[in-house]
Amino acid sequence: MHENEKPKEITSVLKTVLHKGSEPVALHEPLFEGREQDYVKDCLDSGYVSSIGSYVNQFETALCRFTGAIFAAAVVNGTAALQICLKLAGVQPGDEVLVPALSFVATANAVCYCDAIPNLVDSDIDSLGINADKLDGYLKEIAVIRNRICYNKRTGRPIRTLVVMHTFGHPVQLDRILRVCDDYELTLIEDAAESLGSYYKNIHTGKFGKLAALSFNGNKIVTTGGGGAILTDDEYLYREAKHLTTTAKLPHRWAFVHDEVGYNFRMPNLNAALGCAQLEQIEKFLCLKRALAEEYEKAFACIQGIRFFTEPSYAKSNYWLNTLILSEENALLRDSILEETNRQDIQTRPAWTLMNRLPMFRDCPKMDLSTAESLERRIINIPSSAKLGKPFVPSENDAP
Ligand SMILES: *Cc1c(COP(=O)(O)O)cnc(C)c1O
Repeated sequence: MHENEKPKEITSVLKTVLHKGSEPVALHEPLFEGREQDYVKDCLDSGYVSSIGSYVNQFETALCRFTGAIFAAAVVNGTAALQICLKLAGVQPGDEVLVPALSFVATANAVCYCDAIPNLVDSDIDSLGINADKLDGYLKEIAVIRNRICYNKRTGRPIRTLVVMHTFGHPVQLDRILRVCDDYELTLIEDAAESLGSYYKNIHTGKFGKLAALSFNGNKIVTTGGGGAILTDDEYLYREAKHLTTTAKLPHRWAFVHDEVGYNFRMPNLNAALGCAQLEQIEKFLCLKRALAEEYEKAFACIQGIRFFTEPSYAKSNYWLNTLILSEENALLRDSILEETNRQDIQTRPAWTLMNRLPMFRDCPKMDLSTAESLERRIINIPSSAKLGKPFVPSENDAP
């Protein structure tokens, strides 16, 4: 096949898997097929729509039950959850925090909200997350440990914290990551915004870090409209998380006494009502999404020069965002594939621009980022909504 045919060939495979009719296909849409209307209406009827009400507690309990986390604190969004995770992990102003260069901007932004500096880490081709071996090599070169604190020899700044992110839902190699954390006295935080329903060796992601952040934005695996949560197994950290995210107000029937500069980050009850209904359906969402991923895997198996990314062998992934990876020789075709698919109303998009290429992070310390750079050129995300995993039922409008 001639090279210029590739975008058309890929679009046609996508159309087949998606049973594409006349409707545009979005990258990721939420599905409201459960008790969303009932719970939201009940919340409105109760009058308790914001900072007080029973849905927040119910949602937190359901999150704990599903993930196996001992504590969960629901907050306004995933970015705020990350910010509080970092603060509670002990990130100090002037620290460096190791973060993946290939991530949504929120991961690095949260570091800056703590007046700390992102130190950018390369990716692993098998997980798309942080490459533990390469990170180990980097730290061997730049790190020195004094009084059980790791310092960057080049900058003199402490490195106390490592944030991993489970890219598009695929868990990172956590055993190796935890070994690096041990060796260099680093506290692990998980940006699990994309990995609700993803497991590393049968344990839910978010259970490995001292704290973890979830997101319930409209495009995530379940949604609360906007929302996030902090997971931890440490009761003290949980209490601090609750306190900090509710303006650090001391409990009292009428007095307003706050004992530190807190945040107004608590999830409103109205959002939690939606979240309760969504979480009741998560197993169904995961089944549909895995079914869709299987269809993609089969359909792309025989297509040259492009590979459908599948979960690492140690993991069970939620397949939050399905991913195609072009071969190096085909990387230059990425933009014409994005053009052609979007022109035909199939929403696709490239990976995020690497953090080191965004103006605010240009001068951040970083290691060799060759794998992340290569992935950035070659990744294409394709439609991933749970409803696309449904068995196809032809409608009258789609009749030829
Ligand atoms: C979605 C997401 C977040 C948080 O997003 P919010 O929109 O603030 O809920 C953080 N990190 C990653 C990697 C994400 O994908």
